Amino acid sequence: MEKVLILVIDGCAPEYFTEKTAPHIFRLAKKTGFAKRILCAVPSVTNVNHACILSGKWPEETGVVGNYFYNLETGREGFIEERGYMKAPTILQRCKEAGGKTALLTVKGKILGVYGDGADIGISAQTPDRGQLEQYGLDMPPAIQSGESTQWIIKAAYQCIKIADPDMVYCTTNDYIFHHYAPGHKEAVAQIAAIDEYVEKICTLDPGRQIYITADHGMNQKSTIVNFQSIAERAGFAVYCLPPLKDRYVENHIYQEGGMLYVFLKDKSQAAAFFDFAKNHHHVEQVLPKEEAAEIYHLPAGRIGDYVLFSGKDSAFGEVEGECITTDASRTHGSLHERDIPLVALNPAASEEKYLYNKDIVARLSL
Ligand SMILES: [Zn+2]
Repeated sequence: MEKVLILVIDGCAPEYFTEKTAPHIFRLAKKTGFAKRILCAVPSVTNVNHACILSGKWPEETGVVGNYFYNLETGREGFIEERGYMKAPTILQRCKEAGGKTALLTVKGKILGVYGDGADIGISAQTPDRGQLEQYGLDMPPAIQSGESTQWIIKAAYQCIKIADPDMVYCTTNDYIFHHYAPGHKEAVAQIAAIDEYVEKICTLDPGRQIYITADHGMNQKSTIVNFQSIAERAGFAVYCLPPLKDRYVENHIYQEGGMLYVFLKDKSQAAAFFDFAKNHHHVEQVLPKEEAAEIYHLPAGRIGDYVLFSGKDSAFGEVEGECITTDASRTHGSLHERDIPLVALNPAASEEKYLYNKDIVARLSL
């Protein structure tokens, strides 16, 4: 069976991960693979893209359209943190079924919660297991809201490959650092340096392993945060605005701010008027009826509200007081402007031009 490592650097816009910040990885890519820019799935949020990367499928098949769900009929809503939401089989499940050994390593505990099925070895920096730490020679993990947590998880991946040699390894970080620091800042540079060091070590240990390094989404500075729920209500619309990015990691985005909204109309007779209103609002870059959004971005039409709204590059939708605030303290994602992500492939399964989206990594594996 082919040996694979997929490393997903959470929130890694291409500007963070370059020849300058990761010299060892880019040197290896020149010898045994390639480095390029690809796109993530829409919306550009964590859960949605882990589902796509793990399965090689679009959201219309994974069924995962956000970190948070809302059901208009029942009024139920909540965080997506446990198993049962993912509708497509993951590469971990497929590999295990074929007799392979699998590992899932993550800083954010919810990733293990949602996608852990099929992982023989599951390591989470948020919920460490003492026995596992001893087995893999690891110290207690640092706080997950830190650059050190990335260093810890990538070292754990190296130790796991050295000691247990799983066929399929999926490893992912936290985007805390990139939510707080722009490319070039020493914290961001240090995070990539740790990845560069350990990926080189893994290559030396296991030179034949296929290694794919990518991201779940990018990241941009946002100067305006817009409370579209409040704006729409004041204009007389009965709506529920769901930010697909909403999660419990509020230290990453204190207003749950993100670049996309699913808008559920409680009164369908307002549909045409709402479309006109949203289309003409200066903080909305684009509004699409659900059918159109589903068609263009391969989303399940029944799960994304009635309309999908996108913000501009330097603004986001969030749960702020009043209608809108300006800030110099928000870096976030979720819009079409955070779709650009890097892909570095070492010993890849297919040639460079076969990879356009992060889902293509698993789609090209022969398993
Ligand atoms: Zn993320």
